[in-house]
Amino acid sequence: MTKKILITGGAGFIGSHVVRLFVNKYPDYHIYNLDVLTYAGNLENLKDIEQKPNYTFIKADINDEQKINDLFQSYRFDAVIHLAAESHVDRSIEDPLIFVKTNIIGTLNLLNAFRYLWADDFKDKRFYHISTDEVYGTLGLKGLFTESTPYAPNSPYSASKASSDHFVRAYGETYKLPFVITNCSNNYGPNQFPEKLIPLFINNIINNSPLPVYGDGNYTRDWLYVLDHAAAIDLVFHQGNNKETYNIGGFNEWKNIDLVKLLCKQMDIKLNRAEGTSESLITYVKDRPGHDLRYAIDATKINKELNWSPSVTFEEGLSQTIDWYLNNKEWLLHVTTGAYQDYYKKQYQK
Ligand code: NAD
Repeated sequence: MTKKILITGGAGFIGSHVVRLFVNKYPDYHIYNLDVLTYAGNLENLKDIEQKPNYTFIKADINDEQKINDLFQSYRFDAVIHLAAESHVDRSIEDPLIFVKTNIIGTLNLLNAFRYLWADDFKDKRFYHISTDEVYGTLGLKGLFTESTPYAPNSPYSASKASSDHFVRAYGETYKLPFVITNCSNNYGPNQFPEKLIPLFINNIINNSPLPVYGDGNYTRDWLYVLDHAAAIDLVFHQGNNKETYNIGGFNEWKNIDLVKLLCKQMDIKLNRAEGTSESLITYVKDRPGHDLRYAIDATKINKELNWSPSVTFEEGLSQTIDWYLNNKEWLLHVTTGAYQDYYKKQYQK
């Protein structure tokens, strides 16, 4: 029998890559992509698969409890891969409440609908919650986040994701709802909305606009190519152990300023500009409040247990990402008009 898989947030950045992978790789599954299409959701991301017979798009809000229950009862999803979320830290500092609604209450609505549908009889069922390494808070100059690092979220975004992780785990204990959780580091790649660092800077370099670097630029993040994240999600969904958490990371730490300089170098070459042209756009701006100094993931568990590791180097992934944005200028133009301009002015020109 066809396995019915609900993927939430499938019109967003990571979700669109996961939807495409599952639709193409598993013709026997039916993939339902549920997304309300916020500013970050874009069906253009899925143009190439929208006609496939094993794909259905459902426009719905995970905050709409009744609608979510009705959808679960009519489609009878066997599994959920939950990515829908408000995902941008800066926006969570401006408006924390929407993060509480979507990331916490929205997740609860899905958990409840799944539980009611299967009446606590979960044979061959799975709820997969996609989360972030930001739930662990910040590291000093040394050390790595492991699956047993205590949660210590510092932003409204990470607090909302931490809370949803706890609810998923609690439903596993209280109602025996079968779950897996993954906590992943910063993703980059095609289709990422240009509010996040790499596409924001690619867009600004194309337009000769300033590159706003927070604080002294010494913040450190681990970066993972989005297709490697999607491959990890596929593995964990099929082979991850029930009630387990897996950390996913790129073994690829970069100080923001070094990353920006590498990006500038690659952009100068690709745009045939003199060396140093893009770097001259770097402007240091007032720091983000509560900015975490360093995130770094120990991905040994998923590497050893599920034999997963990243398939591309950062230099390769970054180069492919830049090529994608340069070849999809219309996509970029579409998402950076209108409301994006207001957001940008508020965020960087205050
Ligand atoms: P994104 O912002 O690009 O996409 C989020 C998607 O969710 C959008 O399509 C949006 O329309 C949809 N959505 C938002 N609110 C909704 C609602 N109320 N109902 C239905 N759909 C809704 O996010 P992303 O970067 O692709 O992240 C996806 C998931 O992965 C999130 O849960 C995020 O916390 C997690 N994550 C992201 C990263 C990263 O680096 N981007 C890293 C680790 C984990």
